Amino acid sequence: MEAAVDLSLIAYGDVVAGCTRCALAQSRTQVVFGSGSPTADLMFVGEAPGFHEDKQGVPFVGAAGKLLSKLLEGIGLSRDEVYIANVLKCRPPGNRDPQPEEIESCEPHLWRQIELIQPKLIATLGNFATKLLSGRPNGITQVHGRPQDVTLGGNAVTLYPIFHPAAALYTPRMLQVLEEDFARIPELLGRATAPPVLTVVEPEPPEHPEQLGLF
Ligand code: URA
Repeated sequence: MEAAVDLSLIAYGDVVAGCTRCALAQSRTQVVFGSGSPTADLMFVGEAPGFHEDKQGVPFVGAAGKLLSKLLEGIGLSRDEVYIANVLKCRPPGNRDPQPEEIESCEPHLWRQIELIQPKLIATLGNFATKLLSGRPNGITQVHGRPQDVTLGGNAVTLYPIFHPAAALYTPRMLQVLEEDFARIPELLGRATAPPVLTVVEPEPPEHPEQLGLF
């Protein structure tokens, strides 16, 4: 079963490699589809490939990516155990912000990735991923660190907005907040993946047992 999921994600990646849905197809070196485990419980969604990602075809390999790897290590996870993707699969020239029409053209690829991977927890990195996946206009400064339970692609998913590592690279205060938000991931992941707990409800002892004539 896992192999089938794996294959269809790879097959879908092969299709997306030739995507011409928006003008970024003309300036990119290659499509940066995503990397990591095709059956990951935890998925990260960033903004768009930068210079290094465009050259290597792998998301988050530049300075922000190194910080992401370090933060993952800090919570006992490796990049191979999670899945990492972006809102846009192609680099916007000069690393400018994604344009609304580019996001609209590219979003079916992200929805399909989510459907195939079926993650339990999606950490949205920064404003673009957070707004797209939550469907709400609230910015990352307002909503970071607040998990939201949503249904995506027919599956229950916990969205967890956190700051983009690039924003934390040169701002120590933001790095601290990102580290604090990151530290909650294991707990959220446990909550999202744990089988429902059967709670045994103990009957309350009677307030005045002696009145029942039992003693
Ligand atoms: N920033 C992103 O949002 N994605 C990458 O892949 C690299 C940097």
